[in-house]
Amino acid sequence: MSVRVRYAPSPTGMQHIGGVRTALFNYFFARAQKGSFILRVEDTDQERSTPEALQDLYDTLEWLGVEWDEGPLVGGDYGPYVQSQRFELYKEYAEKLVADGKAYRCYCTSERLDALREKQTLEKSKQQGYDRHCRNLDEAERSALEQQGLASVIRLKVPLEGKTTFHDVLMGDITRRNTDVNPDPVLLKSDGFPTYHLANVIDDHLMGITHIMRAQEWIPSGPLHILLYEAFGWEPPMYCHLPMVMGKDGQKLSKRHGSTSVRDFKAKGYLPEALINYVSMVGWSYDGEREFFTKDELCEVFSLEKINKAPGVFDYKKLEWYNGMYIRQKSDGQLTDMLIPYLVDAGFVSGNPSESETAKIAALVPIIKERLKVLGDVVDMARFLFAEIEAPAVEDLLPKKQDIPTTLEVLVRVLPILRKLGSVGDEVLEQELADIATLLDIKVNGVFMPIRVAITGSTVSPPLLDSIRLLGMDTAVARLERAITILKNEVA
Ligand code: ZN
Repeated sequence: MSVRVRYAPSPTGMQHIGGVRTALFNYFFARAQKGSFILRVEDTDQERSTPEALQDLYDTLEWLGVEWDEGPLVGGDYGPYVQSQRFELYKEYAEKLVADGKAYRCYCTSERLDALREKQTLEKSKQQGYDRHCRNLDEAERSALEQQGLASVIRLKVPLEGKTTFHDVLMGDITRRNTDVNPDPVLLKSDGFPTYHLANVIDDHLMGITHIMRAQEWIPSGPLHILLYEAFGWEPPMYCHLPMVMGKDGQKLSKRHGSTSVRDFKAKGYLPEALINYVSMVGWSYDGEREFFTKDELCEVFSLEKINKAPGVFDYKKLEWYNGMYIRQKSDGQLTDMLIPYLVDAGFVSGNPSESETAKIAALVPIIKERLKVLGDVVDMARFLFAEIEAPAVEDLLPKKQDIPTTLEVLVRVLPILRKLGSVGDEVLEQELADIATLLDIKVNGVFMPIRVAITGSTVSPPLLDSIRLLGMDTAVARLERAITILKNEVA
């Protein structure tokens, strides 16, 4: 039997790290097993589902290069793959359960259910949830209620005794007393919409899903789902609940920790290769050592056995490190193309960069490549080259523990040295700049830092002499002279 797995998100928000990891694990498993990866949109909650979230789902998977074999947009033999297009089907199956005596209609009004809940809370009753009032209605009572035209929901008859067990590939057997399962949960609402549980189980069965890989937060729903499979007389699939993704503080990864939506990562300039690689290492490992995998390699080597049982910790720094590695694997030409949109956004170059603009970017790329952690870093690194930088403030020109007169002297001595750029070798110039530090008995940084701030407006810039070469001697000298004036005015 060939493996069929699915990613079944609810389009209620932007795709985030946790969801995407679930998608990737399903996708890799399908590829490694030569099976099928199915995308199913679980939009039964019509109030919370949005077209933007659905579009974000498609965009995210496309950006990552995760192609689905069956699902919306591509079709397949088990469609439709969007739950809101399958409502009739859920109704049919719910009715079938009623006819088979596995489910029943409940006519309780929301007033009655509210009062019940209130009473249970007040009495601190051990019995929480629905009291199964309608489970034992006899035929006469039921038809009387029907005749009144009362709205009804369909509830599952959860067995009143016994236990339910499901097997999880990672966690082993998970058993729950049936009396601990939500008493007779609603399967079909009075408006004819299914609940998540009903739609999810029916679809997994009808779509021939063999393995369910989903977040561990769904474990509590496991017994209920098994009871549903039993009620239908269906064989449940295999379960593999995936450990949570945590922040470094041990809390479930959330916005508190930083960006979690994939589109934010994309906007900052993370590469899909890096995100795929790192996210896959959160909760899965090959041999505990190897850290680099392309998507294609993961499609070969992924296996359920290597998923960690413990929660994975998402480390933003580590992702940044991966991203830097993948950036440096790009050719200078590729990187130039990838950086242009960021420079356009920053207003440094025109939407359709001219040849000279592109040439300038291409010349910048080799000197910043080593320092880029995310593509968006280019904006701060390129500002000095494309924008008029503001006159630096005195404090910004001063290295730690270095006074104004000393810093002024540094810049005055630097000026004639820098003018020689191009006519003597860089090493010679660097040595002469370092000699200023010796002469004035200050740190080397006490020389380089003020030059950098004067010329680039920033303490972090590409290598100094390279930057000046790109900027042009005239502009560099003018900026240096401006800084000298600023310091002179301060001394005077
Ligand atoms: Zn009822």
